[in-house]
Amino acid sequence: MTLKTANSRAYFKELRRYLPCGAHRHFYKSGIRPLTPFVDGHGARLRDMDGNEHLDLVCEYGASLVGHGNQRYNERLKSQIDRVVSVDQAGLEAGVCERLVRYVPSAEWVRFGLSGTEVIQNALRLSRAYTGRERVLRFLGHYHGSADSVMGGTPRSQADPRAQEYDGDGYFTEGRAPGALDQDTLLIPWNDVDALERVFRDHGDQLAAIMMEPVALNSGGMLPAPGYLETARRLCDRHGVVFILDEVITGFRMALGGAQSVFGVTPDLTILGKAMSGGAVPVSALVGRRDIMDLYDRQRVVHCGTYNGYPLGLAAVEATMNLLEEDPDCYQRMGGHLLEIARTLTDAARDVGLPLVVQGIPTGMSAHVCAEPLRRPEDYTPELQTRDGLVKAVCEGHGIQFAPRYFRLYCNLMLNDDDVAFFRDRIHDALHEAKEVLLSMDDPVALQAAG
Ligand code: PMP
Repeated sequence: MTLKTANSRAYFKELRRYLPCGAHRHFYKSGIRPLTPFVDGHGARLRDMDGNEHLDLVCEYGASLVGHGNQRYNERLKSQIDRVVSVDQAGLEAGVCERLVRYVPSAEWVRFGLSGTEVIQNALRLSRAYTGRERVLRFLGHYHGSADSVMGGTPRSQADPRAQEYDGDGYFTEGRAPGALDQDTLLIPWNDVDALERVFRDHGDQLAAIMMEPVALNSGGMLPAPGYLETARRLCDRHGVVFILDEVITGFRMALGGAQSVFGVTPDLTILGKAMSGGAVPVSALVGRRDIMDLYDRQRVVHCGTYNGYPLGLAAVEATMNLLEEDPDCYQRMGGHLLEIARTLTDAARDVGLPLVVQGIPTGMSAHVCAEPLRRPEDYTPELQTRDGLVKAVCEGHGIQFAPRYFRLYCNLMLNDDDVAFFRDRIHDALHEAKEVLLSMDDPVALQAAG
């Protein structure tokens, strides 16, 4: 299939005059055309500026939960715009917070922000103030935004988990504040109970917080190993460490109460963002234990932000909650459609002779061009990331938009049977072409599959 690209290419050329890389964020190599500009959307479909139709499995990096052109959601935003927007509080706060506290097990108090990156920094500040300690434990491959202290790094050695700058995972950056990464951050492999117990034994009384994603959706889509979250909870309790769960992706996407409501493990502080406000306007939240967030009430810890809790954002959270509450089967339906797409993808891969696995949660998955599911973020090697990224890029040329990095699938509430059929019609040719591309590059996995 050949899509028309003349208009979007010309537009990209123009953009290169204004935007570094012609894009809004890192991870697009300079001069490589990023996701095509889309000028119209409905449900899970998008139309680009050349008139091609695409299936949207990017869902704005997991944020777009309600779907494009969702009437009820849009009406709610429009009515708020007509009523009042540019005020600090508009009477929406209590209702939205009451529902957050009801749904999210760890939520007793709530603070709103705009981005995940920003409220994560606040959660760390709060944890340090609460414990009087400085160190933070993170996990290899987990992503917590782009601030200096939480992005990337690698342990100095197996025996010494202190973080240091690392240029092998795409998060190496010049210009970091001195000491931000390597002074107080410890890094260990995730899903490894022995490593977790060891680091608590050696450093538990110095830790202010540990922070992880409940499902490793930024590094391959691994689920927590049985008992892993429970062990983390137990060790935090024993050593007086604040347990922060970063539910920026899983919050509202996995369930109204997030992954913690599904796995039955309650952290002390939770980070919410992305899907919470449906996808059109940004809202993030830090929710958690009252005795920790009390430091805000007592004015011991500072949290600011011009747009915190802004009316249009809270109207979007309210509209998203309405849609989810009124349609209790929605998670099963949405996940069912995405699982069907995942099955179609693996069947097509088998037909064209490429190994492929899909893993994650029903509403957010990661595909990999390899034979066995990945167990830990470290299993997601640079070679596999490159191969996945190549296959994803070929699929884009067939009107199937998987999410970066590298080959992810997200769904929205409006994904339907027609979308699954659209996918089925195109994926076979797309993977066939992808295999040819891999073979032309002497990719060892494609060569082996070809016998
Ligand atoms: N945490 C996780 C798990 C994320 O996936 C992201 C964004 N991809 C962030 C934090 C950062 O959120 P934001 O981009 O809103 O700053």
